[in-house]
Formats: sequence, structure tokens, C-alpha cells
Amino acid sequence: MTATNLLGLDLEGLVAFCEGLGEKRFRAVQLFRWIHQRGVADFAQMSDLAKSLRDKLAGVAEVTALKVLSEQRSADGTIKWLFDVGNGDAVESVYIPEDDRATLCISSQAGCAVGCRFCSTGHQGFSRNLSTAEIVAQLWFVEHTLRAEGKSRESSGRVISNIVMMGMGEPLQNYGALVPALRIFLDDHGYGLSRRRVTVSTSGVVPMIDRLREDCPAALAVSLHAPDDALRDQLVPLNKKYPIAELLESCRRYLERAPRDFITFEYCMLDGVNDAPEQAAQLVKLLKGTPTPGRPKSASSPLGGRAPASDLGGSGIPCKLNLIPFNPFPQSGLKKSPRERVMAFAEVLIQAGIVTTVRKTRGDDIDAACGQLAGEVQDRTRAEQRMTRAPVVVHRRVRAPE
Ligand code: SF4
Repeated sequence: MTATNLLGLDLEGLVAFCEGLGEKRFRAVQLFRWIHQRGVADFAQMSDLAKSLRDKLAGVAEVTALKVLSEQRSADGTIKWLFDVGNGDAVESVYIPEDDRATLCISSQAGCAVGCRFCSTGHQGFSRNLSTAEIVAQLWFVEHTLRAEGKSRESSGRVISNIVMMGMGEPLQNYGALVPALRIFLDDHGYGLSRRRVTVSTSGVVPMIDRLREDCPAALAVSLHAPDDALRDQLVPLNKKYPIAELLESCRRYLERAPRDFITFEYCMLDGVNDAPEQAAQLVKLLKGTPTPGRPKSASSPLGGRAPASDLGGSGIPCKLNLIPFNPFPQSGLKKSPRERVMAFAEVLIQAGIVTTVRKTRGDDIDAACGQLAGEVQDRTRAEQRMTRAPVVVHRRVRAPE
């Protein structure tokens, strides 16, 4: 009989598992805390668990981490791990420390089927969904490895304060495994993170945004990358199925469930493709809708910071715009926007009252675009050939408002 990896069970799942062994709920809570809060994998070391339960678990359960293939540490503190998930597949996790937080970027799939033009993972094609255990194992390993190195924050005793499901894969195309993982991240007996500190980043799988709103409304980031459907069709192929208007409607519905929240829109700055001031103006129209008269405009620095979201009122969507510097890789055929162009783009948004940040690049000395390391492990060339053939055609440019 195959042992169950307990990293894959949320608390209710673990309660059911323990009940199947004839054990009470509070035993499952104890076990859950040993695993996630204390990072213990060996049942024999769980000293306040009844010996009879430890013996039962030894035969049917395990706590199994992912094998580390490589670890790269940047001078700025960023750490990138490559984990083996079997059959030649590998996934990445990135730890990003800042003054007041430490974020872990987690992968949800080996490869990705969405195939965004500017994404190295997308160029590798899709291999398989990760299990809940494989998703949670990334946090479990990083949290407890770095805690052992003394990297805990004084305020909480924990290392990781924020999670972004923004590594390899489209998390909403692995929904069944994602939701229990989110519940483990949020559970007070697990990692105890608030749902505003756990962000699901999606390229726009509209029906699943609606389901997430019902099942586990974590913070939502949406990869927008273009102000119109013609361009977005080319950059994010999923747009052909769920065009921008439908996507923004689903964002509005999402916020109905969490009215004090906002959506983060991600926008990867590509030289000569989506970075013109006219396109920024188009983006403003798209996101701002009709502002409520008399509402003050939000101000923000384009250089980052923790500005509050724009409350656009009216038909606008409360949101933040995050401009991401493109991380070039040879097969993309795309170039990074020059800094001055990024700042001019940000200025248009800020002047319109949209809170806008420009993401800092981190870990430059260990740099590889997300997915590049894993791509070296398994190169799915058919997807690469398909995607490198067609150039991005830029059309439907709009004029700047007078
Ligand atoms: S950006 Fe995200 S959704 Fe798009 S191909 Fe890359 S991993 Fe997939």
C-alpha cells in the first residue's frame, strides 16, 4: 500500500484521515501543527502524540519533501530552488526577502499550457499538474530550512510572510490541488497567513476565478499585459477564450465577495509591443470606467512601495497596476522596455489616479527568467518551435488623448 503524503492534506482532510485510523479530531490538529508549524517529518519525534497513533501512522503515512536539484543564492538575499518532481520534470520556488516581509513564489504545475509569449515556462509546454503535497512541500521546505538558518522574523517567529502563486504554471488550471494548498497556507494551525498575504496569480481562467471567489477568496492578481484583445490574444493566448471584458467582469464579481479588497493587474513591459503612452491611456480607460465624482485621486510613486489600491469608484475596478520588467530569454524574440519608457507609462497611469508600481528586479546575479532553469532540465522543443515561429504583430494602436 502506498503511504499518504500528509503534506497534501488540509486540516479537514487530515481529520478524515485520522478518523479513518480511529483517532479523534484533536489528534489530527496536533499532527497538523507538528508538520506545518514545527516542520517535523518523523512521526517518532512528535513527542506529545500517543505512541499508538505514531505506530499507526508509520505504516500508512509519510511527510515527504521534494528533492532539491539546485539552490542559487543572490547577494541581495533572493534564493531560488529547483525541485525535482520526477520523470525529468522540475519546478522552481523563489524566496524574496524585503525589509518588512518575505515572499515565497510557488509553482503549481510542471510547465504550463497557457503559453504566454513572454514567459519561459510557457515556451516549455505543459507536463503535468503538481499535487497538493508538491505545492505545499515548496513552502514547507523553505520555511523550515530558512528558520533553521535563523531567518525568522521577530514579529511572528516565521520566515515567510507572503505567498504568491506566481511560479511555474497557471494555478487555476490546477484548481483541485490548489484550493487545499491555499487552505493549509491560511489555516491558523498551519502557516496562519491572512488571505491578503496569499495571492493567486492567473492569466484569466474566468470560470475558475468565480469558483475561487466561493471556495477560498485569496488575494487575486491578474496577468493583463495588454490593453486590448487584439494584442492580448497574441501575448496571452487564453484571451481568445476569455477576452478582456469577460475577465474584468469576473474581477468585479470577485470583489463583490471581498469588497474591501482590490485586484492586482500585472503588466510585463515589452519594448515596442505594449509600452507606448497611448497604450497606458487605453489601459486607464479599461480599468477606470467612470469614476465617482468628487473622489480624491490616489497618489503613488512609480518606484514601488506599499501604496493603497486605487479606489476608482463608479464602474472602475479597485486595483493596483504592477509594471514588471521583462526578463529576456533567447527564444522569446522580445526585448525589455527601456527604463524611461516604463516610467513614462507609469506616469500616465498615476496621473489618472491608478496606483502603479514598477517591480524591482531581484536576484540579478542568479538571474534566469522564471522557468529557464527548469527548461534546462527538460526542453519540450515542439512547444518552443511553435511559439518562436510567429512574431508578435502590434496593431490597433490608439492615439493619446488631446
Ligand atoms: S505567464 Fe503564467 S500562465 Fe503564462 S505561460 Fe507563464 S506560467 Fe503559464
